[in-house]
Amino acid sequence: MDFERNRIKLPKLGEIKTVFHRVFAGKMKYATVSVTSTGKWFVSILVDDGAATPEPAPFTLDTTLGIDVGLTDFATLSTGEKIENPRYLNNSLQCLNVLQRQVSRKKKGSKNRQKAIQRLALCHEKVANQRNDFLHNLSFRVVSENQAIAVESLNVTGMQKNHCLARSISDASWSAFFTMLEYKCQRYGKTLLKIGQFDPSSKICSKCGYLKQDLALADREWVCPDCGTHHDRDINAAINIKKFALQEQNLVGIAGAERTVEPVDSLPMGRRMKQEAAPFRAG
Ligand SMILES: [Zn+2]
Repeated sequence: MDFERNRIKLPKLGEIKTVFHRVFAGKMKYATVSVTSTGKWFVSILVDDGAATPEPAPFTLDTTLGIDVGLTDFATLSTGEKIENPRYLNNSLQCLNVLQRQVSRKKKGSKNRQKAIQRLALCHEKVANQRNDFLHNLSFRVVSENQAIAVESLNVTGMQKNHCLARSISDASWSAFFTMLEYKCQRYGKTLLKIGQFDPSSKICSKCGYLKQDLALADREWVCPDCGTHHDRDINAAINIKKFALQEQNLVGIAGAERTVEPVDSLPMGRRMKQEAAPFRAG
């Protein structure tokens, strides 16, 4: 790499004019060259900078954040904050639909079809860039503000079955978001706690543990018949995800790691459902 002259030298190809995303130092491991469907070329370079990954910091009830992802809002935090799906994504979705229709109207093999495909690819790329920007900002923010983050594992088999565009983009966003949370937690010495996919995270009262069996998917709000607490469906789920994750930490514990987890009100055993914890830690 020549950062001053903005050139990269590749075997057999020689020197190529490059826009560097950042200046880096360290031992270069390998480089991967890729091209997008809109004809943009990228080189990603793996560098060993010799720095060790930080040890995960201890976390408490107050420094852990529960996140529930959903279709209504992109994410709901256990603090009660709702993160909306960015509006520009919706606009872009409409644009994608129009462009897709234009492609299917053009004669197969024609030049006009080629052009329409190119326009569609550009729009897809724009959506992906907007989505990634949104996800990077959000994941960086929650990782900076908390010591541990609790999420519910995604149901991958269920995700592959749907063919709706809006839904498939949401699904892709969630897995990309979780991947970002995972490596950002590692990089900044935070802990990502994952609990298993189990329905009742939204059906259990986060205050008293009552299981509301008949809670329908359309019920966005409900009142606990046992303790009378008024719940927002998603906020209640986010609080439960955090609770379950911390509870699991108390029950299992991690060998060799000192945790300062405060006791969480435990749920009556009969009301707890199957869950698993898969804490992701550096190394
Ligand atoms: Zn209750």
